[in-house]
Amino acid sequence: MSQDFLTQLEKHLPQPIRKLITDAGKKACEMGMELYLVGGTVRDLFLGSTNFDLDLVVEGDAIELANELAKDSQAKLTIHPRFGTAKLSFTDFSLDLATARSETYSKPGALPTVRPGTLKDDLFRRDFTINAMAVCLVPQRFGELIDLYRGKDDLEHRLIRILHPNSFTDDATRILRALRYEQRLGFKLEPETESSLRQNIAMLDTISGDRIRHELELISKEKEPERVLRRADELGVLNRLHPSLRGNGWLGEMFSKARQFAQRVSLSVLYLCLFVYRLTKQENDEFISRLNFPKASAQAMCHTLKLKAQLPVLTTPGLKPSDIHQLLRGYAPPAIQTNALATESPVASQRLHFYLSRLRYMRPALNGEDLQRMGIPAGPQIREVLQILHRARLNGEAQTRQDEERLVRIWRQTTSGTKVDTE
Ligand code: ATP
Repeated sequence: MSQDFLTQLEKHLPQPIRKLITDAGKKACEMGMELYLVGGTVRDLFLGSTNFDLDLVVEGDAIELANELAKDSQAKLTIHPRFGTAKLSFTDFSLDLATARSETYSKPGALPTVRPGTLKDDLFRRDFTINAMAVCLVPQRFGELIDLYRGKDDLEHRLIRILHPNSFTDDATRILRALRYEQRLGFKLEPETESSLRQNIAMLDTISGDRIRHELELISKEKEPERVLRRADELGVLNRLHPSLRGNGWLGEMFSKARQFAQRVSLSVLYLCLFVYRLTKQENDEFISRLNFPKASAQAMCHTLKLKAQLPVLTTPGLKPSDIHQLLRGYAPPAIQTNALATESPVASQRLHFYLSRLRYMRPALNGEDLQRMGIPAGPQIREVLQILHRARLNGEAQTRQDEERLVRIWRQTTSGTKVDTE
């Protein structure tokens, strides 16, 4: 029994989770199955950090076990019969159960052929030694560490190491995963792993855009994604995704500003727009197409470059707030935020921030119904007056509902030619 691991378990997993995995181990045993905690949770527990996304591997039937566990709990159960997996979601944490499986690759970059297998098979299909440890949860062996690839030694020596020489050829997404763990944990690539990674960079071409994009999304969720991108640049990985991409100091500075100043915009999308900020339109289009970005992200990326080209107009002296609004209203907010962070023009930056923090939220107090009640007939005139009121709001010429009502009366006076008391 690994005393070391049990101590970590006591220290870093709250009692209800410990009870849950202990009970799950008992239940598996009653059902004649073996149950193991695997992957990131084991790694993080040894590193002394908390990870509440628990991955369990079952030698047996994961779905059958998950059904039994769900009976005695409040958890929400989701099952995927095709993959032999199930998820039990609790309020603050989740348990993923998977039937142990073996994977074989018919050709580089292809999705693997999956078959039920043993724990040994299941550990062999994993990316790095530090992610390929398992801890047994059935009562007789509770806490026993299964470490076929000396992952614990690698954790102690702070190394990222692949399990076998074909690993990056089988699945080149592991190249990006390696850099993500290396930078997150402050580890080093083990020398043979680094040399294999360097030799296999071209294998990224065998990976679909969707899968590479998914890895980039995972990178963008890291605390400091710029560290991963810098390393990916140094190793020639970015160059393989698109020759114009850079993970340099400028990008690091921008990402750090983004974390400080993002205003109600998803940080991941902001990172992405900053990542393409220095590309040409054509390069950006190529990158979007290679990674098959979904519509919303692709639009934010394209708007970023389109707006960048428009920035000289935004620096025109004497622009009124309504002019700024008019110029910016058609752009996706992440594109505006990106330009606000990245432009070298202080005037443009200030105006972009002004739009994001104030102008985009400003609306007239009166609506179409109010205008009709004031005698303006339904139809295009309502739209025209609403636009006048909106401009007046933006420019500070109308600050209250009464100010707007006064403007409506003036408008009626000028359009009908009748004299109206404006007081
Ligand atoms: P984290 O979520 O902290 O990044 P994790 O280890 O939980 O770490 P997941 O992406 O959830 O990471 O993957 C779970 C496990 O599945 C990993 O620990 C790894 O063993 C395995 N895995 C995931 N992707 C791959 C891959 N492309 N090749 C081999 N094994 C993989």
